[in-house]
Amino acid sequence: MEKTLVILKPCTVQRGLIGEIISRFERKGLILAGMKMMWLTDEMLNEHYAHLREKPFFQRLKDSMRISPAIVCCWEGVDAIQVVRTMAGSTNGRAALPGTIRGDYSISFQENIVHASDAPETAAIEVKRFFNENEIYTYPPALLSSFYATDEF
Ligand code: UDP
Ligand code: MG
Repeated sequence: MEKTLVILKPCTVQRGLIGEIISRFERKGLILAGMKMMWLTDEMLNEHYAHLREKPFFQRLKDSMRISPAIVCCWEGVDAIQVVRTMAGSTNGRAALPGTIRGDYSISFQENIVHASDAPETAAIEVKRFFNENEIYTYPPALLSSFYATDEF
């Protein structure tokens, strides 16, 4: 099974949507491996958004990620990285399809509710960026056979 990092962005905390977004991942069948509230630091965001540092919106993006604390979570499941990206929808909330998280809750390119890791390499780095090893939990999901065929996990 894969682990992926999700950040419920400060806009989500501000709008009181934490529970609603978390419950979408739970209902899908993803397993919560870690979760905490954090005020992201400029250092963390410089690393996390390094691929965007030349963009004109880099500073405003970082500022928006620090307007309040965020909720960082690690979700686990078969193909969890792609499953969560698909659930998140396209980056621009105005273009994201209804039924996706961004399509249902966002009308903005920037204030788009969640960050989700985009590939196995970035997921591994991002989980380590925001969690210590002892903050990631492995526990037996009692109903695994109700979520997957036995040869799927
Ligand atoms: N972003 C933005 N304007 C853009 C592109 C990205 O404000 O034109 C913001 C948006 O909040 C996005 C984040 O920068 O979630 C990271 O961009 P990325 O291209 O990694 O998109 P994501 O992986 O979040 O879909
Ligand atoms: Mg990205």
